[in-house]
Amino acid sequence: MAGCLFCAAPLRHTFVDLGMSPLCESYVTAEQLNQMEPFYPLHAYVCEQCFLVQVQEYVSPAGIFTEYAYFSSYSDSWLAHAKAYAEMIAARLGLTPASQVIELGSNDGYLLQHFLAQGIPVLGVEPAKNVAEAAIAKGVPTVTKFFGRQTARELVAEGIQADLLCGANVLAQVPDVNDFVGGMKPLLKPGGVITIEFPHLLRLMEENQFDTIYHEHFSYFSFLTAGRIFAAHGLTLFDVEELPTHGGSLRIYARHVEDVSKPVSDRALRLQAREESAGFNRLDRYAAFTEQVHETKRRLLEFLIGAKRKGKRIAGYGAPGKGNTLLNYCGIRTDFLDYTVDRNPYKHGKFLPGTHIPIHPPERIRETRPDYVLILPWNLKDEIMEQVAYIRSWGGQFLVPIPDAKVYP
Ligand SMILES: [Zn+2]
Repeated sequence: MAGCLFCAAPLRHTFVDLGMSPLCESYVTAEQLNQMEPFYPLHAYVCEQCFLVQVQEYVSPAGIFTEYAYFSSYSDSWLAHAKAYAEMIAARLGLTPASQVIELGSNDGYLLQHFLAQGIPVLGVEPAKNVAEAAIAKGVPTVTKFFGRQTARELVAEGIQADLLCGANVLAQVPDVNDFVGGMKPLLKPGGVITIEFPHLLRLMEENQFDTIYHEHFSYFSFLTAGRIFAAHGLTLFDVEELPTHGGSLRIYARHVEDVSKPVSDRALRLQAREESAGFNRLDRYAAFTEQVHETKRRLLEFLIGAKRKGKRIAGYGAPGKGNTLLNYCGIRTDFLDYTVDRNPYKHGKFLPGTHIPIHPPERIRETRPDYVLILPWNLKDEIMEQVAYIRSWGGQFLVPIPDAKVYP
């Protein structure tokens, strides 16, 4: 058993054990259906020293991320979030055509395009080749590399340093968190600012979001633990925002320890205090999570079994990574879910990993008129219920699995 990803202490305490699961972005083609499929333990631990919740690395990141199916540009609310952030932060930091923005995990350029539109120079760092090519095609300069100390050194050697170094949903996906945060320090100009967004562990636990745990997602941070990790690399968290994205995320603001021009904000101090009083510095706070997850599985299966006994037809909406954790952990296959749909054409004609549920274009719902639509990306439920509101015309209802298998007429 390897040690903690951050502090190397031995990992002895289970956070939750979700059994064996395939890699959640490894969509299966029709030709692969009869082949063997690798499953890996999906067992999250909590470190007794630093309280980092983490999943062990079983597959090299090169295997996971070089042909990544996720294109950021396929969710309307995510695109709106990116645009609002770019405008807010450019104004807050006073970015100009003389500034440099660098995004780590820049995906298809969905965010950086908004800085370009304001005349601010950008550079993306994105390891997935197919996704980076899409960014370059829309005029967003992108380096196709994993980020860490080595990539930082290469960029600095070319004279590149950031006034704003940002990343959303990338920190949790790096297997070596010390190499990643360690690379941010040299790449940041002396007065520069880092903003990083990640799902907030406090919300994950309070709202039972166990399906956001998957192999491609190694670390799950509280604000306290994130602060500890950044401090170990000479960076201070001086502000934080709580965001509704991905079921509840944090946007942390970091600066050089030496940069005392940016005092630690009241809201950062308040969140620290809130996590401390909620017990996030104590092991027993983490131990209760397993039973909560078991109960969610029982409730969801109870509903699905009841619906099938009444002869109801159930379809899925979406094919996100989190859906695959949920379906594999709960054992939901085509015995419950006839098919799922997704707006991303990359996934059409493929099958969900492990459960082999077929993925169709969204029009399939209108053609087959299911009684229930199970919304797998529950964080986008409002947006999806609006897009698919037409199911109500034949009495169809929505089922939102997290936090508590609730039906919306
Ligand atoms: Zn640790």
